[in-house]
Amino acid sequence: MKKMIAMMLAGTMALSLAACGSAAAPAPAADTAAEETAEAAAEDTTEAAEEDTEADINTVTDGVLTMATNAYFPPYEYYEGDAIVGIDAEIAAAVAEKLGLELKIEDMEFDSIITAVTAGKADMGLAGMTVTEERKQNVNFSDSYATGIQAVVVPEDSDIATVDDLTGKKIGVQLGTTGDIYCSGDYGEENVEKFNKGNDAIMALVTGKVDAVVIDNEPAKSYVAANEGLKILETEYAVEDYAACIAKENTALLDAVNAALAELKADGTLDQIVAKYISAE
Ligand code: GLN
Repeated sequence: MKKMIAMMLAGTMALSLAACGSAAAPAPAADTAAEETAEAAAEDTTEAAEEDTEADINTVTDGVLTMATNAYFPPYEYYEGDAIVGIDAEIAAAVAEKLGLELKIEDMEFDSIITAVTAGKADMGLAGMTVTEERKQNVNFSDSYATGIQAVVVPEDSDIATVDDLTGKKIGVQLGTTGDIYCSGDYGEENVEKFNKGNDAIMALVTGKVDAVVIDNEPAKSYVAANEGLKILETEYAVEDYAACIAKENTALLDAVNAALAELKADGTLDQIVAKYISAE
């Protein structure tokens, strides 16, 4: 299993070495034009990378990739019966397969995911999570695998027509999300109602307890489809990058996940997974 990760990493390293030339190449290769020497140096690097990876990579449970998520975020993660399915669940399964690990998904409040990762309870968080500077102080993020949009959901007959009209309104958000962070900053904590689940915020909107909900665009679409009388404003609140979060000290896993994501992007798997859940408009 570790061998597979090592081989994949070595492959990626070789590619990036080839791509960036002398900057990343070991000194012996740069010193001589002899191809044989360069090849030998490349082999050394590969072997070194394999050894490093085997020594460094570790997961919370041996042989298992534990993913922390909040499974109320369709189409990225949601329940189908007892199973957690969705874009993130499938991407994680594909990454785990590439790393030779078994995937285990732990469902928790969104607000607990980063703590689970930093406390060593989960290997990575994959939860339609936006990369932010503040979160980066606590965790590392993988390369981004999707774009997210903070959207504004309102009743169809609302007088809120653009993001600017949110001033002075009661805004529902999901606790600890970027929607929460932006709205609390822009419109004041006193105007923001925080819910543990996105759906609870939507229910508060349906029953008139809040005037608008700021939430990621894809779940917004499924909430609007599931509840009559709601619409999404055309103006976007913010455009963001989704990525996996991983404990700062586990850089071997970060590298392995990035290598796996790059392969899944290159061979079209990522696009296929997204297309299965999000129809092109
Ligand atoms: N993208 C948002 C964030 O990272 C919301 C994610 C979520 O609710 N799962 O804060």
